[in-house]
Amino acid sequence: MQIQNYINGQFVNPISDSWLDNYNPANGEVYGKIPNSDIADVEKAIEAAELAFKNWSKITLEERGQILLKISELILANLQSLAEAESKDNGKPVSLAKEVDIPRAASNFKYFANAITQFSSEAHESIGHNAVNFTLREPLGVVGCISPWNLPLYLFTWKIAPAIAAGNCVIAKPSEVTPATAFLLAEICKEAGLPNGVLNIIHGLGSTTGQAIVAHQKIKAISFTGGTKTGAHIAKVAAPMFKKLSLELGGKNPNIIFADCDYDKMLATTVRSSFANQGQICLCGSRIFVEHKIYEKFKTDFIQKVSELKVGHPSKEETQIGALVSQQHLEKVKSYIDIAEKEGGKILYGGNKVEVANFENGYYLQPTIIEVNSNQCKLNQEEIFGPVVTIMRFETDKQAIELANDTKYGLSATLWTNNLNRTMQFSKQLKTGIVWVNTWMLRDLRTPFGGQKESGVGREGGFEALRFFTEQKNLCIKYN
Ligand code: NDP
Repeated sequence: MQIQNYINGQFVNPISDSWLDNYNPANGEVYGKIPNSDIADVEKAIEAAELAFKNWSKITLEERGQILLKISELILANLQSLAEAESKDNGKPVSLAKEVDIPRAASNFKYFANAITQFSSEAHESIGHNAVNFTLREPLGVVGCISPWNLPLYLFTWKIAPAIAAGNCVIAKPSEVTPATAFLLAEICKEAGLPNGVLNIIHGLGSTTGQAIVAHQKIKAISFTGGTKTGAHIAKVAAPMFKKLSLELGGKNPNIIFADCDYDKMLATTVRSSFANQGQICLCGSRIFVEHKIYEKFKTDFIQKVSELKVGHPSKEETQIGALVSQQHLEKVKSYIDIAEKEGGKILYGGNKVEVANFENGYYLQPTIIEVNSNQCKLNQEEIFGPVVTIMRFETDKQAIELANDTKYGLSATLWTNNLNRTMQFSKQLKTGIVWVNTWMLRDLRTPFGGQKESGVGREGGFEALRFFTEQKNLCIKYN
């Protein structure tokens, strides 16, 4: 697949005519070229976006909403081909892309098409002063959206949809590792009648293309999802220009299991929250803490269930664990498994690369369970972002809360219990942006999404996203 930039409604090559290889993680082979864009391409896109903004910010919400709904419909109409492209580009099972990634991308547009028609602002009557205040919420202008490789179209559209619904024009950069569905989205937007220049998609490396977007004076806000280190760098570049910033970063999420939970439901969900998308979801529960009363039983049952997971080629419907996204990422994940025993951990299951017949050069890894006896090891403190979880026992509620909070991250937590008081105690004390009780990754797009501590700044989702992509202006009118 030859990928091109999408600028001002046209598919164009990078100005420098420089290209990068695109790999298929399932077989390790190069299967396409990606523009290696630079500042010159970003400049062209900004020019187009500034021009488009004049009209896009003024058309009625109904018109905007209809175009977004059309994009949503077309995503669903192309579900199969988009899922196949996502799976080939990322290594995730095609069944997962069909069930989760692509439908969610459609929902993102549908949700914000409707949300923008319900988005309102406040009025404050200054009684005794004969004055009334009301707040305008105006689009910012040209904004930048930068997304990672783990949920490519899902997270790309999670930013673009609210940005354009609110009347902005967008310069978007998908991860250079997974550019395919962003490229296909451009075709869909064109077909749906999105005016030229409202969405511009520039492909390339984070350090050049991404950097050019973040550092550009004319880009008013950056919505970024990715690693904590990259987020810190982006904040440093953007802050002196006083850009609005939304940063959704890494996680090291606790999955806390009490003996009083609904055991079977917990076990099935824990397998998913550990290994869905090869464990490459920022919300995966990578630190499993189990109450001592059921620790041994859980250990046996969990190992059994995980050993039944089918690792295989992503295009096969029966595959549950596909390939990791890249050779480099596979090596990174493997390096954590390699230090496990030095750190006092014990590999209970997995730990090895998998050779899938006929695809021996693909980036496959067994789902891996490591038992640890301290939360202070690298395995429990650093984000691995792969099919590796640790398990550890705890004795008391107090200890479980301390263990859960004992990390620099604070994205999400999962709690398994049927005790209402415990639910409330934990929910109040967990230092995370999201707490799931007796479930995992159940998402309602109206809710605020984001993390505390080094997991990010700001919230996406619902009206929070529309607030981020608009500037408030207070009007104070005095009357006689
Ligand atoms: P990275 O931080 O490496 O990259 C994210 C995006 O930023 C990519 O498009 C990347 O481009 C780009 N980028 C890299 N450097 C710069 C720069 N200097 N300026 C501007 N853009 C840049 O993250 P990954 O792609 O490796 O994604 C995995 C991370 O994302 C994990 O830490 C995960 O936890 C986090 N994540 C967080 C989520 C959340 O909602 N909190 C959800 C999903 C993932 P390129 O790839 O081309 O280098």
